[in-house]
Amino acid sequence: MSDTMEPTPAVQLHTPTTQWTKSTCAYCGVGCGIEASVADNGDITVRGDASHPANFGKLCSKGLALGDTVTNEGRLLAPVINGETAHWSDAIETVASRFKDTIERHGPDSVAFYVSGQILTEDYYVANKLMKGYIGSGNIDTNSRLCMSSSVAGHKRAFGSDTVPNCYEDLELADLVVLTGSNMAWCHPVLYQRLKTAKANNPALKVVVIDPRATDTCELADLHLAINPGADVALFNGLLNFLNEHHHLNSDYIEKHTQGLDGAIATAQQDTGVNGVDYAQTAHLTGVPIAYIEQFFQWFANTPKVMTLYSQGVNQSSAGTDKVNSILNCHLATGRIGLPGAGPFSLTGQPNAMGGREVGGLANTLAAHMEFGNPEHHRLISEFWETDNLATAPGLKAVELFDAVASGKIKAIWIMATNPVVSMPNADKVRKALQDCPFVVVSDCIADTDTTRCADVLLPAMGWAEKSGTVTNSERRISRQRRLLASSENPQAKADWWIISQVALSMGYSGFNFTSDADVFREYAAMTGYHNNGSRDLDISGLATLSDAHYQQMAPQQWPIKPGDKVAGINHNAVDIDNKTHSHTAAPPSKRFFSEGGFYTPNRKATMVAVSHLTPQTAVSTAYPMVLNTGRIRDQWHTLTRTALATHLSAHKPEPYLQINPQDARCFQLAQGDIAEITSQWGYAKARVDISNDTNPGQVFVPMHWGQTYASHGRMCALVSPNRDPHSGQPEAKFTPVAIKKWHYHSEAIAITRTPLTALENLGYWVKRRITGGYLYYLANEDGQSLNDCLDQQLTLCKAGTTLSFNDPKSLQSRCAKIADGVLNSAYIIASKIDSSQYAWLDSLLDKTLDTDIQRALLRGTPSASMLTGRQICACKQVGELSIIDAIENSGCQSVAAIGTLTGAGTGCGSCTAEVAAILDKTLNAPVAAIAV
Ligand code: SF4
Repeated sequence: MSDTMEPTPAVQLHTPTTQWTKSTCAYCGVGCGIEASVADNGDITVRGDASHPANFGKLCSKGLALGDTVTNEGRLLAPVINGETAHWSDAIETVASRFKDTIERHGPDSVAFYVSGQILTEDYYVANKLMKGYIGSGNIDTNSRLCMSSSVAGHKRAFGSDTVPNCYEDLELADLVVLTGSNMAWCHPVLYQRLKTAKANNPALKVVVIDPRATDTCELADLHLAINPGADVALFNGLLNFLNEHHHLNSDYIEKHTQGLDGAIATAQQDTGVNGVDYAQTAHLTGVPIAYIEQFFQWFANTPKVMTLYSQGVNQSSAGTDKVNSILNCHLATGRIGLPGAGPFSLTGQPNAMGGREVGGLANTLAAHMEFGNPEHHRLISEFWETDNLATAPGLKAVELFDAVASGKIKAIWIMATNPVVSMPNADKVRKALQDCPFVVVSDCIADTDTTRCADVLLPAMGWAEKSGTVTNSERRISRQRRLLASSENPQAKADWWIISQVALSMGYSGFNFTSDADVFREYAAMTGYHNNGSRDLDISGLATLSDAHYQQMAPQQWPIKPGDKVAGINHNAVDIDNKTHSHTAAPPSKRFFSEGGFYTPNRKATMVAVSHLTPQTAVSTAYPMVLNTGRIRDQWHTLTRTALATHLSAHKPEPYLQINPQDARCFQLAQGDIAEITSQWGYAKARVDISNDTNPGQVFVPMHWGQTYASHGRMCALVSPNRDPHSGQPEAKFTPVAIKKWHYHSEAIAITRTPLTALENLGYWVKRRITGGYLYYLANEDGQSLNDCLDQQLTLCKAGTTLSFNDPKSLQSRCAKIADGVLNSAYIIASKIDSSQYAWLDSLLDKTLDTDIQRALLRGTPSASMLTGRQICACKQVGELSIIDAIENSGCQSVAAIGTLTGAGTGCGSCTAEVAAILDKTLNAPVAAIAV
């Protein structure tokens, strides 16, 4: 347990009350517990839950900002049919009748659901029950397909079940932690902080980072293997070869609990040397220097307590499942699995990806970890659900599912809580498919997304602060998400399980008379135990008889939870269910699988799968010479629909960017801050150039978050290859061949305004951000006059008042501020080239009292010394780069800790400390003239 981790202080957004409700963060798979208090005006204050075993009070920048995202601005607040506001009864009837009619005319496989790891287990359960159990099609898939389906497929091939064998606690018990394909510092920040604390407490703990890029996670690395994209199988096959060659295999465990060792070793040897490891060959395949390979193999071989954690860098690949199995093989061959401090560990991306896996949210699984193709499972589910129409074959996985929409095979689709027009690979094709689909329903809490723009019917779903149910995190821990806001807040917003149940009843199906989320949960929990008798890993039937009050009180706990097991958090004397009085008691001990075998294969032995190194399906070429890697940034979540509402979360990385090595930047004649055009055989995008040695030559990196509601050309998944893993169907989002070139524009602008700009479609580039009091835009165009006209028409002529302006046509500089009633309404700065990182001072101007200092700064285009902050580094404490440099230069700070004490940087969630350290290093080692502010 991480008893030395300091809880992250609450963000005191508003006046706190003393009433705290425990719930769960809405974002990543770490599944942090939060506590929230709601002020009389509905404002929410959030702090980490010190009793939650995932985070012990810590939260990252996104979790801390949850309260800022709870707003009715931009909410979908009523059903909409064909653009017109509608009553719920009409919306339900419309969806039910169109789905029913389509099924009657074209069969059950002509309809589909595309759901999300954002919805709760109860929602997922009901959606799966309707599609697979009653409509009789397997066509329900989830955006978790894009996230960790290769881990699921790898687990099932090896273990016979989708079981995560270990726990978070094992990070702290390990002596070697291998992070592969995971920028944990940004994507699972609180878990990364646990690892950081563990390393501080145990300096002997070694960390190996395997990643083509040098990410912030390398801050902790004793060894960074900058592997060639897609070469993970070769590296882990080399490791297996080494373990075999040097007699590090656990023959007792192998003999008793595994099968397939010989085949796995044979393919490992084919890849990496038939007479033991051929280091030159392994180095050639992986791109990793021989000395680093040897060091990694030695550490792994000689450290019994080794954890290997992997994430999207492994999963999002056309060989993702094989990569997973190459990792699992090394752990099975050494018997290092399910032990304290030893095992493989898949980090899930989304808050409830695991819950979705449990209830059968993936098209190729049935509910409760039961499987297609197993007649007994088919019989049990049919019996349990009292249906004779259970789907008999897997449905279409995400890419195939949208292909079927495009081809017209699927004629009605219901998308819940996800934004595939931004997040799916080959996203332009997905958008066109939805635009042409005869009937598209979208349930969401946000009104305007790239996907809601394609919908015939919009259904207003509850948002995070309104929902109630359960989620399961990466370590199989089920936590309650509790309702924070009163139901009177947004009476039209409904729970997803309720919406689906109403449609199901309207379609004439029985079995959907659920009265509450607790009611759904009890049925699901009972199903996991139905004729289980130890034959299936997933069994939470110990929760099947919880009363409503006990469901409210339930504390975070790992499955399995069998009848008779102690249920965490239950107070048998409690009578109230207002969910305000529960307190979490000490969590039960961590639960692990497989240290003594007991796999869920027919002979209860794990299978070591023979896997070989494969190159990605589409190779680079003369036309597309660079490898595009997509990923996530520190302060944003998915497609910005929620995190962009918290203004300070968009300050760290305000625009879509292209990270490129200096050598390649020279080759493509790109300078820092240019705008690059990126083209693949599937799509086109633009991004701000960020030159960095963190990306190797031949590769570029882009974040995947922006859609067309926030940027003109930032929808990076339009570029991404639809190639996918043959076993899992997971797309290859980490390897798309692309062409890069500089976009030549005439001039660019930064504008701030209290109301959103419209009519931007004629500009060649724009990005929108929310700032306090309004919006900030980055704009550029080939035609300078159009840019001037657009801003003049929308910003300076729209309201009466005073206009301050400066124009110098010769230098293409133009600046303008519009003031009405002593208040700044809008301002812009136009120039041939703008270094937007120098304009962080604009972020706060709409929130400040207008004075002559500000007016002069806007006219000059440069701030006064007192306004300088520099680009934001620390989101939690909102500390800019210049404040950090000032602390180093003028206050003598010589360490990250000293900078934190003085400025606050890095003292919130801690995710920015690697960047603070880099600034410290650069400032201390730079020539004096170069660091003058
Ligand atoms: Fe939320 Fe951050 Fe915790 Fe993930 S690490 S669950 S985003 S607070």
